Amino acid sequence: AARESRSAGRGPGRTADGHPVPLLLNIGSARDLGTGDAEGVGLFRTEFLFLGRGDAPSFDEQVAAYTAVLQALPGRRVVIRTLDAGSDKPLPFLGLPEEANPALGVRGLRTARNRPEVLDTQLDAIAEAARASDAETWVMAPMVSTVAEAAGFARRARARGLRHVGVMVEVPAAALHARRLLAEVDFLSIGTNDLGQYAFAADRQHGELADLLDPWQPGLLGLIAMCGEAGREAGKPVGVCGEAAADPLLATVLVGLGVGSLSMAAPSVPGVREALGRHSMQECREHARLALAAGDPAEARAAMTGAGH
Ligand code: PEP
Ligand code: MG
Repeated sequence: AARESRSAGRGPGRTADGHPVPLLLNIGSARDLGTGDAEGVGLFRTEFLFLGRGDAPSFDEQVAAYTAVLQALPGRRVVIRTLDAGSDKPLPFLGLPEEANPALGVRGLRTARNRPEVLDTQLDAIAEAARASDAETWVMAPMVSTVAEAAGFARRARARGLRHVGVMVEVPAAALHARRLLAEVDFLSIGTNDLGQYAFAADRQHGELADLLDPWQPGLLGLIAMCGEAGREAGKPVGVCGEAAADPLLATVLVGLGVGSLSMAAPSVPGVREALGRHSMQECREHARLALAAGDPAEARAAMTGAGH
């Protein structure tokens, strides 16, 4: 039966030898859930609730938006990311000053330095929605750079009764300290879009630098490997929710690096499910070894062909 459902392009993600790899969705609202057979949500980008308006959404408004997603997925994991404003997502009501380098400025969790009440209200609303649903509510902060920031976020979230608290790895310093971050939080979620931007000092919206932002860059894969290794040691989940997770062949590399779940836009799920279903964990580890050892993205991709794929 498992084989039938897989050949029909459905069912949970797993390697050819049966290691589960949950394939989760990146969403901006309940509308993005589609037909509803998702294994869960790996990235709920809550900023869409905040963007393009003159004031913050109220507590009640937020509870309604989070509840709409949580109630659609009883028993499933839903990872809610707290507000990721600033940089390419400006938010007028936060009253942030103009910055010369917004990508290196007050963005993500850093906005809570000036406006802590915005984060506190959001955490209150997430906790309220979590209490009223049967979903497994996970919460994480974007743009965390230090262990102290992770610890501070965890304290605030746990004080509200949230039990699965994590941080995103989007800054190289966070990857370097993955082990120490996991001493403070329950899981890591690697945002490869920003991690690539900051690791290669290349604006993610700069078309001419696309080669540096290629998720097959061995330097980026090395940072992901550090996170995977730390997760294995700590026995805590490490996922990827950036664009890298949506590339079927790269998904096998990520799993081989120790990544336990992959989150992507719904249309990418079938291709990734199919690729994982064709490779054993042993093969994924071999893909990871070859990609890490490659000199550049082209060589990393070519090495997969050499490995018989
Ligand atoms: C990322 O940076 O990879 C990520 C998933 O977050 P966003 O694309 O929303 O910045
Ligand atoms: Mg990001």
